[in-house]
Amino acid sequence: MSALSRRRFLERGGRAAVGLAGAGASAAVALAEDAVADTGADRLVEQAAAQWAMLFDSTLCVGCRACELACNTDNELGRTPDEIFEGRPAEDARALAPSVFTYVTFHQVEADPSTAAFGKVQCMHCIEPACVSSCPVLALHKTAEGPVVWDGTRCLGCRYCMMACPFLVPRFDWDSRNPRITKCDMCFDLQGQGKPPACVAACPSKALRAGTRADLLAEAHRRIETRPRRYVHHVYGEHEAGGTNFLHLAARPFDELGYRRNLPMRSYREYTKPAMATIPYVLGGLGVALGALRWIINRRADVAAGGHEESQP
Ligand code: SF4
Ligand code: SF4
Ligand code: SF4
Repeated sequence: MSALSRRRFLERGGRAAVGLAGAGASAAVALAEDAVADTGADRLVEQAAAQWAMLFDSTLCVGCRACELACNTDNELGRTPDEIFEGRPAEDARALAPSVFTYVTFHQVEADPSTAAFGKVQCMHCIEPACVSSCPVLALHKTAEGPVVWDGTRCLGCRYCMMACPFLVPRFDWDSRNPRITKCDMCFDLQGQGKPPACVAACPSKALRAGTRADLLAEAHRRIETRPRRYVHHVYGEHEAGGTNFLHLAARPFDELGYRRNLPMRSYREYTKPAMATIPYVLGGLGVALGALRWIINRRADVAAGGHEESQP
C-alpha cells in the first residue's frame, strides 16, 4: 500500500470511529431528551389518586399523642406509655428512631399561646419514593395500594435509603445484632383488613383521616376554600418531592412547624432518570469507538508488516 493510500485509509478509519462514537452520543442525547419529556411522573400521580392516603390537619390536633401510643402498641415497638408521654412534644427533643415510627411536634412563637401548633412526623409515602429507587435489592417498595413498605429479608443494611429520603425518615437499628431499617408502613396489614391505620383510629379529635388520595386532597382544598383565614393556602405533600400519600394542612407556614422546606416539586427519581437512561448508550458508543480504534491499530500493524515484507530482498 502506498503512503498516500495508507494515509487515506487511516483518515477514513478515524472518521468512521468518530462517526460511530458520535452516533452513540447522539442516541444518548436523544434518549435523555425523551426521558426528560416522559418520566411517567404524571401517570404515577394519576394512579395515586385511588391509593390509600392519610391527611393530618394540624389545626385540629390537640397534641395528646394517642397516635404515638397506638403506633407503638400496634407495631410492638416496645416503648412504655411513660416514655411516650414524658415531657412536652418539643421539636428539638424528639426524633424518629427504630422504636419511633411517628411523633408529634409542638411549636409556639415566644410563649404566645395563640401561635401554638402541632406537626406530625412520619414516612410521607412518596408517590415516587427516592428510598425505593436508591435501594439496590428492592428491599423497599411502593405497593399498588400506596404505602411504601420494607422487606427485612432482602435488606443489605447499606443505608442508601437513609441518604436518599428527602424527608430524612428511614432509621437504622444501630444497637441490634441483626440491624434493620425502620419506618412507618401506613399500617399496611391493618388497611389490608379494611381497618384504618392505628394512629388514625386512635386520634380523638379527627386530626387524622384515612381515605383515597383524591378524596383527601379534595377535602383538604375544600377546607382551605371554606375557611381561608384558618389555613395557609397550601397542602403539604400535594407536590413536594413529586407528591406524597400523606397530606398535611396547617394554620402556620409549614417551615415554622418543622416541615422540610425548599424541596423540589418533582420526584428525586425524575432528576436521576435521564442521566441513568444515557448510561447504556454512552457505554455502547464508547465500546464502538474503542472497537474501531482497535481495528485501525491492527490494520496499521498489518500494513506496516506488509510494507516490511515488501522491502525484504
Ligand atoms: S418519605 Fe422517605 S422513606 Fe418515606 S417513602 Fe418518601 S423517600 Fe421513602
Ligand atoms: S400509619 Fe401506622 S405505622 Fe404509620 S405512624 Fe400511623 S400507626 Fe404508625
Ligand atoms: S392523636 Fe390526633 S390529636 Fe392526638 S397528637 Fe395524634 S394527631 Fe394530634
